[in-house]
Amino acid sequence: MATKKKQSVDIVIPVFNEAGVVEQTYVCLRDVLNGLPYDFRLIYVDDGSRDGTIDSLRKLANADPRISLLMLSRNFGHQAALTAGMDAARGDIVITMDADGQHPPEVIPQMLDLIKQGYDIVQTQRLEEAQPASFKKWTSGLFYRVINIVSGTRMLPGAADFRALSRQAVDALKSMPEYHRFLRGMVSWMGYSSIILPYEEPKRVAGKSKYSFGKMLRLASDAVFSFSLMPLYIGLSAGAIFIILACAQILYVLNLWISGQFQKIVPGWSSLMAVMLIASGIIMILLGFIGVYVGYIFQEVKRRPHYLLKGDKRDE
Ligand code: UDP
Ligand code: MG
Repeated sequence: MATKKKQSVDIVIPVFNEAGVVEQTYVCLRDVLNGLPYDFRLIYVDDGSRDGTIDSLRKLANADPRISLLMLSRNFGHQAALTAGMDAARGDIVITMDADGQHPPEVIPQMLDLIKQGYDIVQTQRLEEAQPASFKKWTSGLFYRVINIVSGTRMLPGAADFRALSRQAVDALKSMPEYHRFLRGMVSWMGYSSIILPYEEPKRVAGKSKYSFGKMLRLASDAVFSFSLMPLYIGLSAGAIFIILACAQILYVLNLWISGQFQKIVPGWSSLMAVMLIASGIIMILLGFIGVYVGYIFQEVKRRPHYLLKGDKRDE
């Protein structure tokens, strides 16, 4: 009797300077996967680590044949590392998760069940109430509020890059070639049948966050400028309001002249300066926005690859 072939699942795990941490989180992940009726493959993507992470990963790969290792030629960032892993994935289902223990593997069986039920995207959502107040929580809350105002694509607050995708959804994502990648937004833009799975985020197993403030800002600007033209409209409408105010002022002055009350017009240096400063401020902001978009266009038209691989155990 022919046995039904097990579905293959690729788990993509980007890693940057996580020596020590990867071994611990691998053990937890392995324990969860061992009981599940799927063919798993773990794709660890080393994003240019400079500590002993690569040695740890090699050790793991030698002990477990289900592990493949991809090494990027330098630190390209979390989103590029995820992209590299998804490009290498061949499974029927692809799961992406962090290596630091903040994405609990205990959620994976539920994710797989939902994909089996026919969903293309199982998107997890961090339960914010469970998080202690912190700078990261505050900036993340602010970010989602802003992005949902300026972008036409609705983005889920607390959405993590911890999700399961069907083959169809992975192929769709791979067909989106943009250089500035904000995967959370790209996934919600795609549509398909998706479901939200809330989870409580544990603390990092060890080590510090690899998202420096600069990297957080870069991700936020990728999200805003690649998902919205709203900043241009903000500048334009502020400019329009100023032109309307200027017209009103001209009418007011004309009216005083016509009614013979021109002695009322006091030489108004301060008001003139205020108008000039505000108007030139708006022009500068608007030029800045245009500059950012031109910069983004410049980087897109270069059509650079999102990442480069270093030779080693590259997957066949
Ligand atoms: N990471 C990466 N490249 C980077 C920054 C982070 O591959 O440039 C990895 C990191 O090793 C971790 C995941 O992406 O597995 C999430 O990063 P982190 O935990 O530092 O972010 P946070 O949870 O603080 O948002
Ligand atoms: Mg983390």
